[in-house]
Amino acid sequence: MVECAGKRILIDCGMYQGSHELDEENSQPFGFDPASIDYVLLTHAHLDHCGRLPLLAKRGFHGEIITTAASRELARLVMLDAAHLQEEDARYRARIAARGSSAGHAVAPLYSVLDALNSFDHFGRTAALDEPIEVADGVRATFIDAGHILGSASIYLQLTESSQQSTVLFSGDLGKSGGPLLCDPAKPPAAANVVMETTYGDRLHKPLGPSVEEFYDAVTDTFRRGGNVVVPTFALERAQELLYFLSQGIDHGRLTKSTQVFVDSPMAISATEIMQRHLDSLQPEIAKLIRDGNDPFHFPGLHFTRESAESVAINNIPGGAIIMAGSGMCTGGRVRHHLQHNLGREDSSVVFVGYAAAGTLARHIIDGAKEVEIFGERIPVRARIYTINGFSAHADQADLLAWQKQTGAKRTFLVHGEEESMRSFATHLGNTRIDLPEPNQVFEL
Ligand SMILES: [Zn+2]
Repeated sequence: MVECAGKRILIDCGMYQGSHELDEENSQPFGFDPASIDYVLLTHAHLDHCGRLPLLAKRGFHGEIITTAASRELARLVMLDAAHLQEEDARYRARIAARGSSAGHAVAPLYSVLDALNSFDHFGRTAALDEPIEVADGVRATFIDAGHILGSASIYLQLTESSQQSTVLFSGDLGKSGGPLLCDPAKPPAAANVVMETTYGDRLHKPLGPSVEEFYDAVTDTFRRGGNVVVPTFALERAQELLYFLSQGIDHGRLTKSTQVFVDSPMAISATEIMQRHLDSLQPEIAKLIRDGNDPFHFPGLHFTRESAESVAINNIPGGAIIMAGSGMCTGGRVRHHLQHNLGREDSSVVFVGYAAAGTLARHIIDGAKEVEIFGERIPVRARIYTINGFSAHADQADLLAWQKQTGAKRTFLVHGEEESMRSFATHLGNTRIDLPEPNQVFEL
């Protein structure tokens, strides 16, 4: 939260993701009065950035939410999905509690679908990239391409209060250069203060090319064994990127023409449609391909399964299918059914292509668990497990350092990373004062 010239401005309002303890944290008070917030500037539509906007509105926020056109559409999708999942979870827990099991206790959803719908009324002005918006007297915001997911932006604030001026640049989540669909992150402006993410502050990614090859190898190996490839997929960006690589693989003969791909995620399907509506946010060559009808989101073996009956039918396919389903960290969604059916099969594979937070099912499997529990059933892990990290939608340590250097910031606040990652990243920064803020800590700029 930024306070300037009598206004209170939130940058993002996301949900904690990971274990059940974090679920509890989401319902805690915000640490400020939601009714006192005048504006929310939203960097992008991932759940950990927009997921508590409905709760903010439910608890009294009546200001304006400003974001890019694509983020607005994606946030709507993400928030509705989150509300729906919470309602389902609450119903499930209530059923268990009613049976008198000691493990279950009824919980109310954090917010309902109705709450999510209500919060959309607060979306106001739309930010165009690189065009300053006078948010309020003394507060000017410029959204800058962050190259992370469709519509994502860093936000540059020029602040004036009783003739004193300052600048703060919020990184949002930063993407990496050289991705197949989105433009590279834009060069950041000079800023006195920077608040930046450190998701991969302690790591370098493998390059993309070898990761794509690894992905093709995992698919062909698994098909040779007769199994399925389950890919827990984030619905935004990663799903569309993978479709692009699969269509390329088929075009270039790296995968057979008959490769069957199921996108078993209503959210990924909707996100793909939203991407097709925001061609201006894509690389010009990709936008042209889609305009000309040669897009990577259509090929003969590709099936979008929105209906749950279609989803269940996938389980009857004996082998030879690629199944992309959410959630990416396997904390919920249809992927858990596919894991239930395939984890115990030696001929199948699970390919992880994204970040997995500590405490999630995805992380347990990646860390080598021999057995996991899904829907109350113990399932041995016999499938081959691949972790391919070159697909990340996040900047790695080198990208983050280069970005920070370009800002010339005198003061750098590190956020949005696990503690180890932040501490490691801090040791690489020079010529800047570094802060690792605690929640609710206040700084004078
Ligand atoms: Zn993100």
